[in-house]
Amino acid sequence: MNGARIALDAVFIANRGDAALRVIQTARRLGLVTAVACTRAELARSTAAVDAADYAVLLDGAEDAHGVSGGEASTGASAPYVDEKRVLTAAERFRETIVETRTFGPQLLSSLRIAVHPGWGFLSERADFAQAVLERGFRWCGPSPEAMQVMGEKASARETMANARVPTVPGLGLDEVEQSNRHERGLEETLATRVGYPLILKPVYGGGGKGMRVVRQPTELGRALQAARREARTACGNDTLLAERYLEQVRHIEFQVFGGYRDGEYRAVHLYERDCSVQRRHQKIVEESPAPGLPQETREKMAQCAVRAAEAVRYEGAGTVEFLYDADRDDFFFMEMNTRLQVEHPVTEMIVRQRHLDATEQEHVQASGMNSRIRTGARTVDLVEWQLRVAAGEALPVATQNDLFSLTPAHAMELRLYAEAPDEQGNWLPQHGLIDRFEIDGVDVGAHTPTDTLRIDSGVRTGDQVLMEFDPMMAKLIVCKADRQQTIEELGRLLETTKIWGVATNVPFLRTLLTDEEFIQGSDGRGRGVPVTWLEQRLPLLL
Ligand code: ADP
Repeated sequence: MNGARIALDAVFIANRGDAALRVIQTARRLGLVTAVACTRAELARSTAAVDAADYAVLLDGAEDAHGVSGGEASTGASAPYVDEKRVLTAAERFRETIVETRTFGPQLLSSLRIAVHPGWGFLSERADFAQAVLERGFRWCGPSPEAMQVMGEKASARETMANARVPTVPGLGLDEVEQSNRHERGLEETLATRVGYPLILKPVYGGGGKGMRVVRQPTELGRALQAARREARTACGNDTLLAERYLEQVRHIEFQVFGGYRDGEYRAVHLYERDCSVQRRHQKIVEESPAPGLPQETREKMAQCAVRAAEAVRYEGAGTVEFLYDADRDDFFFMEMNTRLQVEHPVTEMIVRQRHLDATEQEHVQASGMNSRIRTGARTVDLVEWQLRVAAGEALPVATQNDLFSLTPAHAMELRLYAEAPDEQGNWLPQHGLIDRFEIDGVDVGAHTPTDTLRIDSGVRTGDQVLMEFDPMMAKLIVCKADRQQTIEELGRLLETTKIWGVATNVPFLRTLLTDEEFIQGSDGRGRGVPVTWLEQRLPLLL
């Protein structure tokens, strides 16, 4: 964390729940005025984010937080948060509000510096939204719209990566193939030779694992294509598909990257990896760092590729480069880049530190021969603070890669607590309703003070509602102890003390997962972690 004053006045958060709270927490520490977007239902119920922010700005229409009515009715769904126009209008209304309420002279009106933070999900990866935010004179907490455009479309991202000498999974955009030959038969042949089976169909504008389909043999292709297109159209509003070789037994390992300018020069650094292989329906449930059993040499190679990926698009701000890792062959492939902060970023914040001394200071110490006698302190990294500072036009907060290190011995792990429960067939159903009580370790979840070993990032507290129309994630539990075993034990202990009344959650499942031998030992029994398909296969034994 940096003590220097930031060149920003306020932040408008185009998000809700734990994402909004996360941004508010840092913005407040930096002395910024905070505003959060909300729906009428959220305002009426006063969510944790609405309470925490200085201002709550309605997305629903011409109604505002001070009760001026007359707006159009809300659709009730998460739609307002993905409606660019509404979000932009809300941001502009906030700008007017804070101009009115502050005692600035009129000459300062134009210099009011407001950043828009998109959080994660919703509009966070929409290049056109970023563009519109910038055009309206706000600062944007994210990379340039151009970088978002290239990385947000899976086909162009693959091409950019190949040019940057980053290995990608064999695959091709179906558009391209279909334009060159119009027959289904031709498509089948092209895919068989240039991609191979099994393959996976993905929407090029996809996210959150939606609309993906594994095709094991050519005879399944026709139907799978139809279904994948249909799903892609509904989930992403675009049915362009990409076919990729489906890799069996791979792990999901991603690198946190951060880019910016320093002394007029572009630089990108990485903040080490997160292993996110424990997934259900391609969605992450557990994330950890370091990745269990990943050879140091491979880790470094992947990190370099991640930095090259960022450099290739002059990526500014926080991003994540995702890889699939084949542990048997010790080989990895670029999968995609997420052009935003991720849900699991606390794992990185728990385990990565920034050296107190910057490179020049270190050189000085070294030259004067004091190095061995000086214990260099380290400071924690706040990725939201980095985002806000870069958005404010400040330099990249670290001078070189060497200023960052991952604690050792240490192991950070995050568990996602969801309001969801399996039915008799084992299908997980999202739950909603009033939370009568939500405490961990005898303390209400909203009142936990983070420490170096435990952090709870929650979007709700006792007395809040889990609303049906939004993602049912309630909180993230992040622990960092000396090794994986101790971290798992501590998480297990915390889950035993977790009391959630009013809504059914996945806590009982998480408790079982943490005691599962394969989860603890890795599926090969040698501590090398589990592949992305592991949890789905193991699930019947865990319920
Ligand atoms: P999304 O953008 O929808 O999140 P990703 O491309 O990040 O989709 O993939 C999500 C998950 O799908 C991965 O973590 C992995 O489990 C699985 N997956 C994606 N591509 C492949 C592939 N080529 N082979 C095997 N599994 C894959």
